[in-house]
Amino acid sequence: MSIKDQIDEVLHNVFGYKLFRNQQKEIIEAIIDGRDILTIIPTGGGKSLCYQIPAVILPKTALVISPLISLMKDQVDQLAINGIAAAYLNATLSSTEQQHVVEQYLNHSIKLLYISPERLTIPSFSALIKQTPPSLIAIDEAHCISQWGHDFRPDYRQLGQLSTRFPDVPIVALTATADKMTQADIITQLKLVDPLVVVRSFDRPNIRYTVVEKFNLTEQVVSFIETQKGNSGIVYCSSRSRVEDMTTRLAARGFSVIAYHAGLTVEERQHAQDAFLKDDIQIIVATVAFGMGINKPNVRFVVHADCPRNIESYYQETGRAGRDGLPAEALLLFNSKDLHWYLQKVNEQVEGKHKHVELHKINAMESFAKSLTCRRIVLLNYFGENRTEPCNNCDVCLYPPEHYNGLLDAQKVLSCIYRVEQRFGEQYIVDVLRGSSRSKIKENRHDKLSVYGIGKQHSTEYWHSVIRQLIHLGYINQVVSTYVTLQLTANARPLLKGEISLSLSKPRLEIVKKSRLNRYARAINLTTILSYEERILFNNLKRLRKDIADVQDVPPYIIFSDATLMEMVQTMPENKKQLLNITGVGNIKLEKYGTLFLDEINDFMIKNS
Ligand code: ADP
Ligand code: ZN
Repeated sequence: MSIKDQIDEVLHNVFGYKLFRNQQKEIIEAIIDGRDILTIIPTGGGKSLCYQIPAVILPKTALVISPLISLMKDQVDQLAINGIAAAYLNATLSSTEQQHVVEQYLNHSIKLLYISPERLTIPSFSALIKQTPPSLIAIDEAHCISQWGHDFRPDYRQLGQLSTRFPDVPIVALTATADKMTQADIITQLKLVDPLVVVRSFDRPNIRYTVVEKFNLTEQVVSFIETQKGNSGIVYCSSRSRVEDMTTRLAARGFSVIAYHAGLTVEERQHAQDAFLKDDIQIIVATVAFGMGINKPNVRFVVHADCPRNIESYYQETGRAGRDGLPAEALLLFNSKDLHWYLQKVNEQVEGKHKHVELHKINAMESFAKSLTCRRIVLLNYFGENRTEPCNNCDVCLYPPEHYNGLLDAQKVLSCIYRVEQRFGEQYIVDVLRGSSRSKIKENRHDKLSVYGIGKQHSTEYWHSVIRQLIHLGYINQVVSTYVTLQLTANARPLLKGEISLSLSKPRLEIVKKSRLNRYARAINLTTILSYEERILFNNLKRLRKDIADVQDVPPYIIFSDATLMEMVQTMPENKKQLLNITGVGNIKLEKYGTLFLDEINDFMIKNS
């Protein structure tokens, strides 16, 4: 069989995929030809396959260098379930186990060996690969070798010697993030020889970006999560205490949640992570400590309860959604106050380039959140990709901001603040405007004011949005003492008198709930793609997958991805041949699980016929 046919054969029969994605095939062929490679492919783009297929085809064992021990086991499990022998060497193994792996390497009975960069400094290991060189060397998270990358690791520097030590072994450097300067630096540091450089667009078209004004955090998160029935998701908060608080609130509302932050013990964190990976828990509420090295492909949503400090972090964190390519949601609940805290911190630093850059990044984050142009255009341009076509899969594209003559609304708000003597906060003002029967309002006799109930016709959300806009525009000050109270600024006067005009954006607060109803959007919530009956089958298949995964003690996505289950639902295979046609079903998985899944589908068909 020719090499080209072999590559296709492995893709179909071993991995069960129908087609290569983008440049996967080009990369695979180049590796087999012995060429060095640098690839920049976004998260979820399918980097691993690029070196796994050559590893299967080439004689001997491929060496994969990865900084994250947690990912090694996951990768080895995923390969094993497809019938590919692989192992890892790290400190979690006993010396007998390590010895066993070394033997497997020497007699070529494994196709891939995962190690961390430190391993190369161990003399016995160095001697091992000198004696028996690997078939190829894959370096994951290759940006870690560059000081210009965002995550420099001194351990990575020593990888620079590999090219000289093994001139005949192809080196594949892979990363999801590296700007031009970092790319050039990776090539220099790794001494790659005439490498094939493959750079794919940063775009993650299946992720829908939505930014809404934050005014009532818990309720907003709750109403969003309610649209995500059964879907896995991450809620990011800016501090440990905020994580704890949000977890408690969501648990009290009946959601399946768990907290994750650096203040927990190693065991507690491990437990939280496992529960999330294994779909025992639907939602993980976390600080940014969570996420590095998490490979879970079926994360359907990422909510930012607090604004990240820069676009790089935002993009990396939202990028943890939808690795499987299916529709996913990224929701940012934005309040400028979150960023002001960072600004203050940075402003305390000494003057210099570093401070300047940090300030710029915070400002860029703020203007992204307040932007009225397509979110994706702003994001991709920030990363230096020139994009001008609106995406039709972000809140700005789907629900373009509309402006209206906001003078009357503004006057209602401002005079309400004035009438309650500028001594109350936002929620109180909204309650007075809407004529709430809160006892505090009665006690203060504010139900007797002329402004009481003059905003009844609009929702609470509506008035919060109006107030927020008046704050941004500088008509209202938030004064922080024991409570945050709203006060008028000098600019408010001409507005109250009607001497100037005022254009406001129509509150866009319902979009979180609405987005699942929009039939015209390109990407839609998973559950809306399926009919009611199909959803039942999808859930049955998920349950079956979970049962199998529990017995084998692996995360469910290792058995089959959401995308594979979805295709089963949509094509209803009746026999093994048809099942094999589904993306993600290879020969080994067909043998192991085929009958179970076919039976489940068959049962369903009988019940529904
Ligand atoms: P990355 O490392 O680039 O973030 P992965 O290698 O983890 O991405 O792949 C992301 C997902 O895409 C995985 O679930 C993987 O199985 C799937 N995948 C990769 N290549 C293909 C392909 N050619 N066809 C279908 N699915 C693929
Ligand atoms: Zn857009």
